[in-house]
Amino acid sequence: MELLALLDLEEGIIAQDESRARTRRTALMEDFTQQLQALGTTPPDTSHISSSAWGMISQENLERMLVARSLALGVRVDFESNLTDIRHGGSGVTAVVEDKKTGFSRIIDSSWVVGADGPRSPLRKSMDIATDGRGDIATYIRIVFSADLIDTIGAEEVLFFIRHPTHGLGTLHSTDIRGRYVLSMEVPKASESPTRGKEFAEELVREVSGIEDLEVGIGEVTSWTMAERVPRSLRDGRLLLAGDAAHIIPSVGGFGGNSAIQDGAELAWRLAEVIEGTDFVETLDQYSNERRAFARFAAHQAFGYYANRQAWHLKGEIRGKPVPYITSVFGFGMGVNSRGSNQDGQVGDACWEDPGAPSGQVGYRAPHRLFCTSRGKLGTFQLADYRYLALLGQHAHGWREFLENPPMKVPEIQIQQLEVEVTDVTHGRPDPVVSQTGALIVRPDGYVAFRSESDMVCPPETIFDSFGSFLRSAQGDS
Ligand SMILES: Cc1cc2nc3c(=O)[nH]c(=O)nc-3n(C[C@H](O)[C@H](O)[C@H](O)COP(=O)(O)OP(=O)(O)OC[C@H]3O[C@@H](n4cnc5c(N)ncnc54)[C@H](O)[C@@H]3O)c2cc1C
Repeated sequence: MELLALLDLEEGIIAQDESRARTRRTALMEDFTQQLQALGTTPPDTSHISSSAWGMISQENLERMLVARSLALGVRVDFESNLTDIRHGGSGVTAVVEDKKTGFSRIIDSSWVVGADGPRSPLRKSMDIATDGRGDIATYIRIVFSADLIDTIGAEEVLFFIRHPTHGLGTLHSTDIRGRYVLSMEVPKASESPTRGKEFAEELVREVSGIEDLEVGIGEVTSWTMAERVPRSLRDGRLLLAGDAAHIIPSVGGFGGNSAIQDGAELAWRLAEVIEGTDFVETLDQYSNERRAFARFAAHQAFGYYANRQAWHLKGEIRGKPVPYITSVFGFGMGVNSRGSNQDGQVGDACWEDPGAPSGQVGYRAPHRLFCTSRGKLGTFQLADYRYLALLGQHAHGWREFLENPPMKVPEIQIQQLEVEVTDVTHGRPDPVVSQTGALIVRPDGYVAFRSESDMVCPPETIFDSFGSFLRSAQGDS
């Protein structure tokens, strides 16, 4: 939501969520009628961690909003277009794109290609990059159906995790359309069940519902596979991967779509730096390493939530230490290895911290504070506005001089000196975000890139050619 807020989409999403004003129920169920355990329905309070709120929106509606915003920003969007071939060399990429309606192909020359072509990613396959992770976990038949269920399930909006005595594991959720639901049930194989036809689907819905005479209208029947796959690299020369093409995270906890959006944003500021010449191409390997590390962390957490909540037989296979959900969303930290530029290298062990008590150290999300500014009261992420932000202590004059006249190429960096330009007005947080002579440099994505408690008396011995390299190398008091 923080990223979508930058595109002015936050209000629209919240408005859609609130306009539904539905009664909600989340529960672990044996069937549609027998509850095993009630689960929380309200989103966690994260007002001490972020200025943005939680909002529920269907992927369909969000994608519509994203397309409209992209068009307004001047992006060209082609539907019904199929990437059929791609060739890349040192100086550029040539893509062949077929118009499915006319059958004609176009040749597009570009500097970079971002493959966001989903879990089966033809682009990733063409890059011939091996993947790690536990692979396929379970296959589900997915049935869209209509039925009058409101009285049975006791709410207009539901998310049920099902442990059915004969049909096994599944989920039931409502959709944007009243009376339309989606049931996913685990099946032995990806291809079999959907081809068994609508009668099979109708019978399955009825049996899992626990209501013998339930009237059901069957819509689309497909299948999907819960899986965990993280490629060894998200970059091959000028080809980059994002979203499900870049990582498949078990679909529990909403990590897939959310991290796909984050990937896009993470790529955007790095590509901008490379194109503008303020950083080297290696910064894109940093993207690869950091996002792989996050995907691996999120995948382990999502699998843990799945096994603990529903798939109890898999509890013994949980890897990594389970952390609270809010920590997995906001608390991830970049291991030292992920900051280096070692393409194809091993990602470092995941590290995290309690986002409610942020350390403000390099590699972690910058602490959320409220600052009084000329633009009103802003949180740290809003103040940064997806640019580099240098928060300087009141007496950090050396840092100010250095950053105002940097001896290297730099991307746009906004300097905010405490008690000069901005005042931290966060209540109940007495710790200063940085010392009176110190500097805290926050990356566009809100992560701390550099921290020093003492003022800069003379520039570092080695001045790098680029700001990005400087930030990657000069971490901490150096
Ligand atoms: C059951 C289920 C529930 C989920 N629930 C959530 C949730 O609650 N929250 C959440 O955040 N995420 C959720 N996810 C995950 C989320 O749906 C995905 O992570 C997200 O769709 C990934 O977006 P993407 O753009 O990377 O890929 P996709 O949405 O798969 O889009 C890829 C696009 O690339 C196109 N494409 C493929 N090949 C080509 C080609 N050769 N040429 C042109 N175009 C091509 C495809 O047509 C498609 O439009 C869920 C997933 C599942 C299966």
